[in-house]
Amino acid sequence: MKDTQLAQISLTKDVTGAIANPIYLSTAYQHPHLGQSTGYDYTRTKNPTRSAFEESFAKLEGGIASFATSSGMAAVQLICNLFQPGDEILVAFDLYGGTFRLFDFYEKQYGIKFKYVDFLNYQEVVDSITPNTKALFIEPISNPQMIEIDVEPYYILSQKHHLLTIIDNTFLTPYLSTPLEEGADIVLHSATKYIGGHNDVLAGVVTVKDEALAEQLGQLHNMIGATLSPIDSYLLQRGLKTLHLRIERSEANAKKLAERCKVSNAIDEVLYSGKTGMLSLRLNKDFSVAKFLENLEICIFAESLGGTETFITFPYTQTHVDMPDEEKDKRGIDEYLIRLSIGIEDYNDIESDILRALENSKVGVIS
Ligand SMILES: *Cc1c(COP(=O)(O)O)cnc(C)c1O
Repeated sequence: MKDTQLAQISLTKDVTGAIANPIYLSTAYQHPHLGQSTGYDYTRTKNPTRSAFEESFAKLEGGIASFATSSGMAAVQLICNLFQPGDEILVAFDLYGGTFRLFDFYEKQYGIKFKYVDFLNYQEVVDSITPNTKALFIEPISNPQMIEIDVEPYYILSQKHHLLTIIDNTFLTPYLSTPLEEGADIVLHSATKYIGGHNDVLAGVVTVKDEALAEQLGQLHNMIGATLSPIDSYLLQRGLKTLHLRIERSEANAKKLAERCKVSNAIDEVLYSGKTGMLSLRLNKDFSVAKFLENLEICIFAESLGGTETFITFPYTQTHVDMPDEEKDKRGIDEYLIRLSIGIEDYNDIESDILRALENSKVGVIS
C-alpha cells in the first residue's frame, strides 16, 4: 500500500487532469470580497504547492499536519520555539552535529537546557527526568555510530511524565518507520536527504498528530517564516515517488557492503544498524583516510546523504567539526572514522571502488 501511495503521491484533483502538481509561484492571492479568501492569502502563510506536499506527507506519516521548512535545521529550530527558558530536553547522546550546534546556541542564548543522555540505557533516561523536563529528542539511528535505539519504552515513559517525544527520522524516512503511529508526538526530517533524494533540494519537514500542537506549530511556521519554496515543495513530492525503490536498493547495497567490509584487513570496525543505506567504517590505523578519499573514482567525497550517488563523509572535519574534541571522543568520532551513504549504483561498482581505494591507501605506500 505504501508503495502505491508513494508512486502516486502527486496525483492532483486539478481540473486540468494534470498528473504532476502545478507549481504556484504567486506570492499573493486575490480576495473575492472583503472578508473572503480562497484559502490562500500570502505564500509564507500558505502556498498551494507546499500544501500539496504537506498534506500528502502528513498522510504518509500517519499525522494530521506537516510543515515544510527551508532546511532540516529550520525544522529543528521550529520545534525549539515550542520551549521556554528553564525547560529541559533530554537528547539522545549521539546526534547530528548541526543539531548539537543549534541546541548549544539555544542553551546559551535562550536558557533552554539540553541534557545529553545515553538512550541505550533506559534507567539513565528515567533518572534524568526532572519537573522541568518537557521533551525527549531522539535520532532512532544514531549518527555516525549507527546504533539503533529501541524507542518503544520511551513513548510509554513520555506519556507517564507528559513529555513530548520528538523523533528526527531523517535516516529511516516514513518508508521504514512512522513514529507518530507508534507513539511519538513530533517527527522531523531533513528532507534534503532521502526524501528529496537527488541532492538538489534543501528542505525540512515537521509532522504532528495532535490538533493543538498543529495549531501552535502552524502559527510559529508562519511567524518565523522559514517556509519551503513552491519549487522545492514540488521537488520533494517528486522525490517521494521513488522513495521506496531508492531505499530498498541503497539498503540492499549497504547490507552487502557491510558484510564484505567485515572481512577486510583495512577496516577495524563496521558500524551498521542493518537498516537504511547508512554505514560507518573505522579504518585500520595503517591506512590513511586522506589517501583513501583521493583514490575513490566512483564513490564521491561529499557531505550529505540519502541521494542516488554513494557519498563518503569524514565526520571528524565535516558534519561534526563544531563539536569539541572531548565530545567527539566520547562518540568515537576520530581521524579513522568515515561515514558512507550508499547510493543506488550497481553494487559491484561500489564494492570494487572502495576495496581498490583502500588497497592503495596504506600508510607509507606510494599509490
Ligand atoms: C542533515 C541533517 C539535519 C539537518 O538538515 P539540513 O537539511 O542540512 O538543514 C538534521 N538531522 C539529521 C539527522 C541530518 O542528517
